Amino acid sequence: MTLDVPTLFFVSTLISLLMAVWVGLMALGKPRNDSLWSWFAALACYCAGNMLVALRDASTPPPLAIIVVANSTYALALALMLVALRRFQDAPLNRWHVLLPVLAAPLVLGGALAISAAARVYATLLVYGGQILLLLWTLRDRAHPIAGRGRFLLQVAYAVLLLILVGRTGLVAGGWIEPANLIRNSPIQAIIFTVLSCAVLSLSLGFVYLSMERAEQRYREMAMSDVLTGLPNRRAITEELERCVSRARRDGELVGVVLLDIDHFKRVNDSFGHQAGDVVLRSVAQAVRSRLRGHDQVGRFGGEEFLVVLPGADLNGALAAAESLRQTVESSPVRWGAQSIAVTVSVGVRGGIVTAAETADTLVGSADAAMYQAKQSGRNRVCAAGDGVKTN
Ligand code: GH3
Ligand code: MG
Ligand code: MG
Repeated sequence: MTLDVPTLFFVSTLISLLMAVWVGLMALGKPRNDSLWSWFAALACYCAGNMLVALRDASTPPPLAIIVVANSTYALALALMLVALRRFQDAPLNRWHVLLPVLAAPLVLGGALAISAAARVYATLLVYGGQILLLLWTLRDRAHPIAGRGRFLLQVAYAVLLLILVGRTGLVAGGWIEPANLIRNSPIQAIIFTVLSCAVLSLSLGFVYLSMERAEQRYREMAMSDVLTGLPNRRAITEELERCVSRARRDGELVGVVLLDIDHFKRVNDSFGHQAGDVVLRSVAQAVRSRLRGHDQVGRFGGEEFLVVLPGADLNGALAAAESLRQTVESSPVRWGAQSIAVTVSVGVRGGIVTAAETADTLVGSADAAMYQAKQSGRNRVCAAGDGVKTN
């Protein structure tokens, strides 16, 4: 099989064009400063650079200006990728990392070309190589981490591009390929353009993958969190309890469950308005969260009910935690304009070993029964499951 280099170059350009259109379509409807738009611009620049190279090779002798513009367009494409990555990371962008290569490319590459075609190949290694190293470094920025398969695809693509650049420079230095016309037919050039097409594909897929993974993560977080308080919602805290219960059953661990219900909350809404009620809910959520230790979790279980999961807690431990939460809420009246709203909670607790017959549902049921008991015996108190009034 003979691979025709101009055809491969054409295919590579076509792939980059299709990828640019695809990324552009994905960016449609997103704000102008969305990272997908920058990635689209980068791919479009790369594609334009390829078209200029094709134009250059069709004309004899190639005008210097076209070569310089084509090469600068690639530098711009890499710079725009950096812009896209920094936007994606929500990280500050060092302007010089963008401007320097874009401004230096025409000068360095044009100057090198005035010396010789081989000098231009070395200069491209300097300019593009530096930019690719910067992109690889950006992908590893620990302060603004990017995770997942998208990052892996981008890293592979940049590493391959770097290898192509270094390899091509070595081949030109060794006299194996002719630097004057890089899209001339030769087996080595055929391999280079095939690998290049794969790298461009990997770059496009990688970034889109990153964006999709991020969107999926956001939807998952939204589906699991309560909008008003920012706490895990009922589904999330129930799943947390289910995980905790299966671990406890398997390893014979203890589990504490605490259910808090705000006392006479309807009165708060009726006296101060629904908005004040929302502020009270947020304040109680914040107070409870701030009192919990590392592994403990709290979620909004219902309207004005909060469920706390205490892994490893026996009944006494769970009671102590519950009492501390009750006191915290009681001693943190909520400010509403010039007024102060006193808030208390009734708390039901279960703790200890989880038997084979128990499930997350039955544990919550026990805590709920205890909470009902706390309401019945006067509110603003803690009751244990199967027990009488415990405190206050
Ligand atoms: P008890 O001491 O017996 O628990 O009385 P309560 O008034 O707290 O209980 P009840 O179940 O009668 O009322 C709960 C109220 O919580 C009714 C509902 O309008 C209110 N509520 C539920 N969700 C929200 C919310 O998101 N925001 C506000 N402001 N109110 C809410
Ligand atoms: Mg209630
Ligand atoms: Mg209530």
